[in-house]
Amino acid sequence: MSDFAGALKSADEHPDFKLAVIGVPFDEKSSFRRGAAGGPAAIRAASTGKCYNPCTEFGVDLEHDTVLVDLGDVDTSGDVDKTFARVEQAVARVLERKAVPIVLGGDHSITLHAVRAVAKRYPALDVLHFDAHPDLYTDLYGDRLSHACPMMRIMEEGLAKTLVQVGIRAASRDQRANAAKVGARMVEMKDLREPLVLEFRNPLYVSFDLDALDPAFAPGVSHLEPGGLSTRQAVALIHGLKARIVGFDIVELNAARDPSGITAAAAFKLLKELAGRVVRP
Ligand code: MN
Ligand code: MN
Repeated sequence: MSDFAGALKSADEHPDFKLAVIGVPFDEKSSFRRGAAGGPAAIRAASTGKCYNPCTEFGVDLEHDTVLVDLGDVDTSGDVDKTFARVEQAVARVLERKAVPIVLGGDHSITLHAVRAVAKRYPALDVLHFDAHPDLYTDLYGDRLSHACPMMRIMEEGLAKTLVQVGIRAASRDQRANAAKVGARMVEMKDLREPLVLEFRNPLYVSFDLDALDPAFAPGVSHLEPGGLSTRQAVALIHGLKARIVGFDIVELNAARDPSGITAAAAFKLLKELAGRVVRP
C-alpha cells in the first residue's frame, strides 16, 4: 500500500500536479551501516490511508487542497555518477512543471544532486538542514561525495545563499572550521532555545536527515546519536517556519533498524507537515 494517506493521485491523470514524490533507493555513500536504500519503500508502506488521513495538523487536506503524485524511484542500478545525474534530472523535471519535489532517500549524499537542480531554477536559494551531523566534511576517507559531505559541496558550489543547520550534536573540529569558512549557521542542540522561529528571505529547500530526531523517537537510522529533537520539536520548527518551501527531502531512514515502523511513521509525519507548509506557507 502506497497511497500517502489517501492523498495520492495519478501523474498521468493529473499532469498539472503540485507536489511530486521521487524515491532514491541508494545507500552506496553511507560511511557506516548500509540500509538507507530501503527508505523510500518503507515510507510509502507506512503512509497508508488505512492508518492515516490526509490532513495536516493545521487542516491542510493533501487530498483536496493540492495534487500529490508519486513519480516512483530513480534508477539506481548503474554506477554512482549515473544515479546522481538521474536524481538531478528527476528533480529538474518536477521543477519544470512548476511543482515541488519531495525526495525520499536514500543516504544523505543525494541531497547535493537534488539541490543542484533546485538551485538552477532558484539561483537565490536558502537551505534548512535538519541533522545530528553538520555533513560539512571536506571529504570522508577521501570521498568528497560521501553522505558526510553534501552541505560542504552545496556551499562550495555556491548553491545556497544561506545554510541553517538544526539538531546538530556531533560537530567535529574540522566541521566547525568549515562551518565558519562557508558561513553556515549551526543551531546546535546544546544551544537550542524554543520557540525557534526561522525566517528565510529566499525560496527554501529543506533537507531532513532523520537522525536529527532523537533515537528514542527515530531509532531506524544508521548513526544513533542520542540527545536529539523530539518529533514534536521538529514539527513545531516546521510549523514556525517563515519561508516559501520549493523542495524538500527526507533521508537516512534505515528500515532494517526500524522493526516497529516508528521511524517510517515519523518520516511520513514530517512529509505531511512539510507538504502542508508548501500548500499553505
Ligand atoms: Mn546527514
Ligand atoms: Mn546525520
